Amino acid sequence: MAQLQPVRGTHDLLPEDERRHRAVIDTARQTAGRYGFERVETPIFEFTEVFTRTVGETSDIVTKEMYVFEDRGGESIALRPEGTAGVARAVISNGLAQNLPLKMFYNGPMFRYERPQKGRQRQFHQIGMELIGPTTPLADVEVISCGADILDNLGILSRVQLELNTLGDIASRNAYRAALVEYFSAFRDKLSEDSKLRLEKNPLRILDSKDEGDRVFVKDAPTFEQYLSNEAKDFFGGVTRGLDTIGIPYTLAPRLVRGLDYYTHTCFEFVTTELGAQGTVMAGGRYDGLIRDMGGPDIAGVGWAAGIERLSMMLGFEPEVARPLVLVPLGEAAETEALKLAHQLRKAGHTVDVGFSGNLKKRLMRANKLKATKAIILGEDELAKGVAAVRDLDSGEQAEVALTDLLRHLG
Ligand code: ATP
Ligand code: MG
Repeated sequence: MAQLQPVRGTHDLLPEDERRHRAVIDTARQTAGRYGFERVETPIFEFTEVFTRTVGETSDIVTKEMYVFEDRGGESIALRPEGTAGVARAVISNGLAQNLPLKMFYNGPMFRYERPQKGRQRQFHQIGMELIGPTTPLADVEVISCGADILDNLGILSRVQLELNTLGDIASRNAYRAALVEYFSAFRDKLSEDSKLRLEKNPLRILDSKDEGDRVFVKDAPTFEQYLSNEAKDFFGGVTRGLDTIGIPYTLAPRLVRGLDYYTHTCFEFVTTELGAQGTVMAGGRYDGLIRDMGGPDIAGVGWAAGIERLSMMLGFEPEVARPLVLVPLGEAAETEALKLAHQLRKAGHTVDVGFSGNLKKRLMRANKLKATKAIILGEDELAKGVAAVRDLDSGEQAEVALTDLLRHLG
């Protein structure tokens, strides 16, 4: 049989990776908890329509990246490429709109058929949050501030920059759209095939093109500013004033658009130069029309998502593992004693590792590898005396402790 390989773009989270991954999730969840956000979990697959109607029929995610299949009942199902659409669907199907604001945090796997590279997988993981209901710019400030706090607690904030833009309201967007069509039409023949299509269907998306040739023209494209309505300007002013008030620095990024169709007003990204082309670590914005467009009530929302793999790579600390006690029984009688002892110690709250085999030297080597605090050696001599040799692995000191006194001795 050929060697079994994982599917391209997927990866196993072995203990070391999982530890970092878990640290990101735990830190984020705790921090979000301080803002009153609670964790929710939605299914990893939904009816395909949940995403086509929200993420956008012409978005890269929907046109090229989605894992879609027909299930045995003939339904078109998609593995979720992002989290917001599922949360919005859950708000509608559970009738949660009666109880606003909703503050939801999530984490879990997402799926996109992309070209795998460092920081870009086909099954990847995100943390994210959604604040649903409030229409005030203070809500945008709150989710950005929570995102910044999370990055800070992960030891990442000083290495990223917050880029901020507004996509305005619908009226401003239509005016801007017309301006972009006019501008890019002049270079139509020189645009990538994708962008030629975007020009017809969703010209804003050209601004987000990763194609080098397109980017030359994007550089000089008109910016949104001159097309913004007064209302949209006021809203954005509220966001920037709020960020100024709490001292969150940002750069205005007039051509920043997001890869998903549903954003209005605020959009933002925390970006880094540390991860090559995969520079966005956290991204989000306001999506006031989304829930209404899905057939739900007309309620506003703002949120963000961040890639856990990218955050893990940048994590500013090494997550701690509980340092165990290691039991080293030598001989059959000692093994029985160790079995009992391990059981008692764990009941008392200790982390206890039993190596199962090998001579004293091998077992002590393993204890060191596990960064054990102490090795508890039970040899024949010790057993005969009713004691254990307790070796402090940091100081190297060893003492005999009566078995009956061991639990008390170890605290
Ligand atoms: P990019 O421009 O890098 O493709 P995106 O605009 O598609 O990102 P979003 O859809 O906004 O990203 O997702 C939010 C975050 O999720 C990204 O900033 C990134 O950290 C992470 N992310 C997105 N796609 C992937 C992927 N294929 N593998 C790993 N992480 C990803
Ligand atoms: Mg993408």
